Amino acid sequence: MSAVAEAIAEGRVGERLWLYPNYHCNLRCTYCLTESAPGVPRRLLEPETILERAHEARALGFTGVGITGGEPFLLDWLPELLAELAQILPVIVLSNATLFTGRRLAALEPLGGLPIHIQISLDSAEPDANDEMRGSGNFAEVVAAIPELLRRGIGVRVATTLEDPASHDPAELDRLCELHRSLGVGDEDHVVRPVIRRGRAAAGGMGVPAGADELDPELTITADGAFASPFGPTVRAGALDTDLLVTRTTSPLAVPAGALVRALGGRAAGHDARLGIR
Ligand code: SF4
Repeated sequence: MSAVAEAIAEGRVGERLWLYPNYHCNLRCTYCLTESAPGVPRRLLEPETILERAHEARALGFTGVGITGGEPFLLDWLPELLAELAQILPVIVLSNATLFTGRRLAALEPLGGLPIHIQISLDSAEPDANDEMRGSGNFAEVVAAIPELLRRGIGVRVATTLEDPASHDPAELDRLCELHRSLGVGDEDHVVRPVIRRGRAAAGGMGVPAGADELDPELTITADGAFASPFGPTVRAGALDTDLLVTRTTSPLAVPAGALVRALGGRAAGHDARLGIR
């Protein structure tokens, strides 16, 4: 077994390879790690590149692929890519779920029944509180989209980002859980995580600080290089953060994967990691 496969099997490196196909977004959330918005540099990964990395990931011992951004569904080729990725490894794709109407929703039909989950951001059961962070009308679009996806046989998970989960009003969180259950998403598919103080959140003084010691090591590929976490390739004042950069080289994948394993040295699985993205 290779050192990378061993590290994955032992849980020292996350079993999922993350990829950033783009950085632009139709929203402009207050805590966005990547300062995403409509006009930002796109930093694109081509679909052929993503498929190559996924094939390599499977050969190296990774057992899943994660797609994040930016809003990846702004890319017209994304549904077709997801269907191809699902033939290689199970896929999770993070989305704001505001684009799932009309032709974009129709393009998702072939994904029904495939090993694909769309993880959708929803921060509150109160529309105003949700929309304060994520933009006017967001709540209504998300609660309309989730049943549409489930009806098509597409797996859905809900991700809730809170300024401070420990001190958050439990009654409000209960209302949110009632809401996601009523939409057809079970508790096992709901994740709650803190705002990470990087990107736009850092500029606004929001969230909890996160560096290498707080984050689970998960290899993450972008157009700018390979990072040690999907929270790594963040953007602040238009500049890419490089504190969690592993290598500029991303091909072959064995190069950054091996570098990440070597950088971790003897660090035990998750011994001091407090945050995670799923
Ligand atoms: S947090 Fe997600 S939905 Fe919001 S601006 Fe950033 S990429 Fe877009």
